[in-house]
Amino acid sequence: MDFLSNRVKSLAVSQTLAMSQKSSELRAQGIDVINLSVGEPDFNTPAHIKEAARRAIDENFSFYSPVPGFISLREAIAAKLSRENGLNFSPAQIVVGNGAKQALCNVILATVNPGDEVVIPTPAWVSYVEMVKLAEGKSVLVPAGIDTNFKITPAQLEAAITERTRMVLLCSPSNPTGSVYSKEELQGLVDVIARHPGILVLADEIYEHINYTGSFTSLGSFPEIADRTIIINGVSKAYAMTGWRIGYCAAPPDIAKAVSKLQGQYTSGASSIAQKAAEAAYNGPQDCVAEMCAAFRRRRDLVVELASQIPGFKVNEPQGAFYLFPEVSGVLGKRFGGRLIETSGDLAMYLLEEAHVATVDGAAFCAPGYIRFSYATSDENLRNAMARIKAALS
Ligand code: PMP
Ligand code: GLU
Repeated sequence: MDFLSNRVKSLAVSQTLAMSQKSSELRAQGIDVINLSVGEPDFNTPAHIKEAARRAIDENFSFYSPVPGFISLREAIAAKLSRENGLNFSPAQIVVGNGAKQALCNVILATVNPGDEVVIPTPAWVSYVEMVKLAEGKSVLVPAGIDTNFKITPAQLEAAITERTRMVLLCSPSNPTGSVYSKEELQGLVDVIARHPGILVLADEIYEHINYTGSFTSLGSFPEIADRTIIINGVSKAYAMTGWRIGYCAAPPDIAKAVSKLQGQYTSGASSIAQKAAEAAYNGPQDCVAEMCAAFRRRRDLVVELASQIPGFKVNEPQGAFYLFPEVSGVLGKRFGGRLIETSGDLAMYLLEEAHVATVDGAAFCAPGYIRFSYATSDENLRNAMARIKAALS
């Protein structure tokens, strides 16, 4: 008997998590795999945040929390959005969930009807298209390659919009490319969206603080579209808190209410202890954020330099996040050690099995012909990984 729903059968497995799992399994067998697959800071959560969590346990924050999150946390997030981004959201417009991932999925499920179109610039993070599928919406992909630093133009956006478009989903700084849209570039896209009043904007700003350009513009700060823009953010990347699972959406009041209703039926409020830790992250000292960003920037420089020396790889200089997304068509169609590498998927598998370096196939990000490295790891790992790849492809 096949008991599985069509819904779950249509979903792809998360390739970022799958590659990371595979790399852990090989390590468990004693193989020295360098894991550049999953994207998460390699730093420990800062001490003052861990201390707040310990205190929360001692103070018995062990009961259900309000579905949208503790009011004290939502106040801290509203203060952050005002202080850092110049945005004016009340705590009632904020819903905290289990990571930015749930926050994104909540918003998509709460606003997209079957058949609605969601415009997604690609390369795009693995889960967007799958979340749209869960809502029975249709993803409309707008491709951008390395030659334009993976950024789409206003004309491309305009051409993708139809009368069925419900939402435009933008991610800057981007996973998997590390590209950051400048204020002027965002204005160009906003001008297009402003001409189409029925479209929501979902802005994934989870990499806000891992940004080497020196400035960040939130999509929520454009008055033309502010009343239909939803911001996604969280503590995972900025504060090295991926396992704590705290993210949020900041949305127009009716959408926040709908998201809260949805979350109330299938997960309830996020972990009470983790919420208290997140509160300390937002209210506490912020030097840890800049320190980690400086480390990522140094590693960016290193990995760009080393990856540029790999024959057949075309590399740009990402401006944010902690990913490098080289174009690898130069090695496709060739044989290495008797093995034919036809696709970027073959290459990712070859690098895992022969060089013992875990990466992710660009196809998982709707961009075959590329592979993704996460450089959120030590200089030593990066040097070794690049040397192994170079050797495997020589
Ligand atoms: N958006 C993007 C672009 C991401 O890379 C991630 C990290 N997986 C998320 C959202 C989800 O973040 P979180 O760990 O807070 O769920
Ligand atoms: N953001 C990370 C990545 O893309 C975490 C894994 C995931 O949630 O997809 O690798």
